[in-house]
Amino acid sequence: MKPTSPPVRPARAEFLRKFFDFSRLPVDYDWKVEPARRVYVIRNLRMDDISAIGFDMDYTLAIYHKREIEQLAFDLSLKKLVEDWKYPEEVLRVRYDPEAVIRGLVIDRRHGNFLKMDQFHVVSRVQHGKRALGAEQRKELYHNRKIRLGQERYFSVDTLFGLPEGSLYQELVEFADANPQLVSPDYERIYDDVRGALDMVHRDNSLKSQILADPERYIYRDPRLPATLEKFLKGGKKLFVLTNSEWYFTEAVMGFLLDGQIDYMPRWTDYFDAVGVEASKPSFFLTDAPLMPVPEAQIPGVRAFRKGSVAPFEELLGTRSERVLFIGDHIYGDILRSKKHCNWRTVMIIEEMEHEIEADRKARPVLREIERFLRRIERHDFKRNLLQMKLAMLEQTYEDAPGESVGGELEFQRVSLASLEQKVAEMHARLAELEGELERQYNASWGPLFRAASEISRFGHQVQGYACLYTGRVSNFLAYPFNKFFQSPRERMPHDL
Ligand code: IMP
Ligand code: MG
Repeated sequence: MKPTSPPVRPARAEFLRKFFDFSRLPVDYDWKVEPARRVYVIRNLRMDDISAIGFDMDYTLAIYHKREIEQLAFDLSLKKLVEDWKYPEEVLRVRYDPEAVIRGLVIDRRHGNFLKMDQFHVVSRVQHGKRALGAEQRKELYHNRKIRLGQERYFSVDTLFGLPEGSLYQELVEFADANPQLVSPDYERIYDDVRGALDMVHRDNSLKSQILADPERYIYRDPRLPATLEKFLKGGKKLFVLTNSEWYFTEAVMGFLLDGQIDYMPRWTDYFDAVGVEASKPSFFLTDAPLMPVPEAQIPGVRAFRKGSVAPFEELLGTRSERVLFIGDHIYGDILRSKKHCNWRTVMIIEEMEHEIEADRKARPVLREIERFLRRIERHDFKRNLLQMKLAMLEQTYEDAPGESVGGELEFQRVSLASLEQKVAEMHARLAELEGELERQYNASWGPLFRAASEISRFGHQVQGYACLYTGRVSNFLAYPFNKFFQSPRERMPHDL
């Protein structure tokens, strides 16, 4: 598709007239934003340097009602497994568990296991199906060798679409273990079947047709979204949509979100300069595929295309890579590749932020107690190490020259050490209880999204590595000036006080 200059639309003329009308700024225009609604900064970003802002659609512009859409994806896939993959009807009794999986987990297809890892890929928790494995088994399976996540054996739960998939896999692993005569506990095969069924549900439109039949039920219409986009437009930014969804779905969902929301921009397309569908991200960032026309999209002033890739797209927009800000929810599809291969600046939408920050707030008293405990344990550990050293020296002295006074001292120190060890063990047991209490505030099985034990989780590390900014939803930008300099907090090394 050849770039052409857009005709001036009536909506655009009205928009330009209101361009400098600051009286229309929202009342919550304020830098004092509550933590759950803040935009967090990893790399400095001057909005003044940005000329085009792009949006992924699903789970970015379109926020889905989590329970409803996950339940739907779960039920449709389970039905497919019975009808097309010939699973026995008995599996229809398994139930979707909304808490079963969090983003960032890794699935080990070989064993039917779910792993939570930290930033160094150390596995901190393991579940086989729904059952947590003990420390011994975890270490035996995952601490001896380096885990190579690129292998086919592993699959990473990267998007919110992956949550019902993970829950279904967990349930079927459990089912197969309990009923091997009905479903063979071949965990790799079960995983591939679940993946196949989910993939089919997305591709054959069974999921999308149900969403579109009742959009109110599945899609949350964020009342602050239209004003947020309008504010970016007032800042002189070009806006675009870049989604892997098809045109028919994009048109329907975007229409549901934006049509009729602002009087002088009645159609959703009035907000955007370009709309790319079936974009096949992350390939979009890696290939040089041409932009293809979308015959059914005849919208004056909007450049709609299918497929495509970065270079022809930037030419169409008339902008350079580092002046594009892309906002998406998929660490791999939207963020990592856009950052690594084409220098787009990135915002990651992490819907879980609101829940995680609320859990942080509730967990604060327990966290303080844990920190006190850790300091006490450290002091006691230090004493224990000193005592152990003293004992070792005494034992040597006694071996060289056995004598009554050394023997008595040795006995005394042994008793002291035993009592200290008992105390430390009790403290560790209490610490484990407190840590359990802390983690359950976030998710009963997996704890917090951004931490694994006392480290940053693999998910948190990926966000830090590839996103410039992150926030819970697009409309959180409404609270900030459109020309804001988003400045990252000063990084610290362990030796920095
Ligand atoms: P985006 O987030 O707007 O780029 O759109 C994501 C698209 O990917 C939606 O149309 C989803 O239906 C689709 N999708 C998500 N998971 C799968 C899958 O496993 N197979 C095929 N399509 C998928
Ligand atoms: Mg998305």
